[in-house]
Amino acid sequence: MIHPIQCECGCVQGTAVALNQATRITCFCKDCQAFAHFLGNSNAILDDNGGTDIVQTSPKNITFSQGPENLACVRLTEKGMIRWYASCCKTPIGNTLPSRNFSFIGLIHNCLNPSDIPLHKVVGETCAQVNTGSAKGDSKPKSFGTLPTIGRNILRMLKDRINGSYQQNPFFLPGVDEPIAVPKILDEAEYESLESLL
Ligand SMILES: [Zn+2]
Ligand SMILES: [Zn+2]
Repeated sequence: MIHPIQCECGCVQGTAVALNQATRITCFCKDCQAFAHFLGNSNAILDDNGGTDIVQTSPKNITFSQGPENLACVRLTEKGMIRWYASCCKTPIGNTLPSRNFSFIGLIHNCLNPSDIPLHKVVGETCAQVNTGSAKGDSKPKSFGTLPTIGRNILRMLKDRINGSYQQNPFFLPGVDEPIAVPKILDEAEYESLESLL
């Protein structure tokens, strides 16, 4: 099944396939929360406990048909994940690892919303709540599914590596290990000012 990917203003458009085999998690880590604040739209991105609804899959399943030049990315720290968003309207797209050798994308729910089909019908329900120690609010969400989630991602990356499909990655330049946009790396002061908003 093909599911649309779209930024809020519609400049960036694409598709994702095989989302029924993807892994849907909610991550409560500080960096996912900081990224939402970096984009200035945390209310639309985070749930009441500061969680981000993320759909993890292989980058080979993603195709951009329109506006890939609007894709921009940030790294909250020098060694952090590459966090992608649409520069036109600051819609979060997803998180990749810094090297194409590790084929991973965690799509953020906001870019999977244009379809009338609710996400749970495409991907299923959340199968893990991770990093709940950083969750906000008095009643913390329960942690579950962390280890199976890590296992599924490692298996997916290994499979893509062995069959060569890791090379199909719309977030990296063809044939080289460089992202299609130069990541903005936040300095310490910028990172701290985001953390102060959490
Ligand atoms: Zn846009
Ligand atoms: Zn996170």
